[in-house]
Amino acid sequence: MNLAVVLVSPKTPGNIGSAARAMLNMGARDLRLVAPRCDHLDSQSVAMAVHAEDLLRSARVYPTLRDALADRDLSVGTSARVRADLPPGRHPATLRPLVRAAAAPALVFGPEETGLINSDLEQCQVTVRIPTGDYASLNLAQAVLLVCYEFLQGGDEVTAAERKTATREDMEAMYGHLRETMQLIGYTDAVRARHTLRLWRAMLDRALMSPAESRLFRGFLRQVKWKVDSAARAGDPADAEQP
Ligand code: SAH
Repeated sequence: MNLAVVLVSPKTPGNIGSAARAMLNMGARDLRLVAPRCDHLDSQSVAMAVHAEDLLRSARVYPTLRDALADRDLSVGTSARVRADLPPGRHPATLRPLVRAAAAPALVFGPEETGLINSDLEQCQVTVRIPTGDYASLNLAQAVLLVCYEFLQGGDEVTAAERKTATREDMEAMYGHLRETMQLIGYTDAVRARHTLRLWRAMLDRALMSPAESRLFRGFLRQVKWKVDSAARAGDPADAEQP
């Protein structure tokens, strides 16, 4: 995707270098700086960029945001704050289809201390707000990382590795077996069994066991029965003390 990251008036060289690194990590290459307040090729910036030094060196500098956005077909603003006079920021994932459909999108980030001003946000068709705890203001480069991640790497539902789940028939047989075992060892009785089983079913159903796992569990139950029976056969006095 031909995605540009625009930093408006960044102040700290380290943040610019870190943002470049975050971009390289996520697969973005086009870094644009609007009226930076520092030298983006400063040693601190280069140090923070690590392997993204080329990306940093190829960054273009623009006098205004308008210039930086001129060749873009979509511009997405970012803001930590909810502003009364502007539409609320959207969760980045909800904008994924819009950004991916664009031919030349830009993500716009504000200065460290103040964020984007309203006239910047007005040049963006939509605004993103990364959900946070009470303290909403992220470090600039960390915001770049998260937003680039959402648009460039964030998956539509990560497909769980192909995995077979035990059939309901297997599971019902397992629960029948569990119930017998519970009664055998006095964990529950005929009156309470149904309620007890309901709690155990809820827990074990959440595990989405594979057929092999349900067999593993039943192997354990078989062993419990074998042990109880053999103790009873041997007249183990401990057996008589069962509740
Ligand atoms: N105090 C400023 C935050 C500046 S942080 C404010 O309240 O807006 C620097 C930049 O990082 C912001 O302009 C924005 O581009 C980005 N950023 C920080 N936190 C963010 C968040 N929670 N959601 C979206 N962008 C955020």
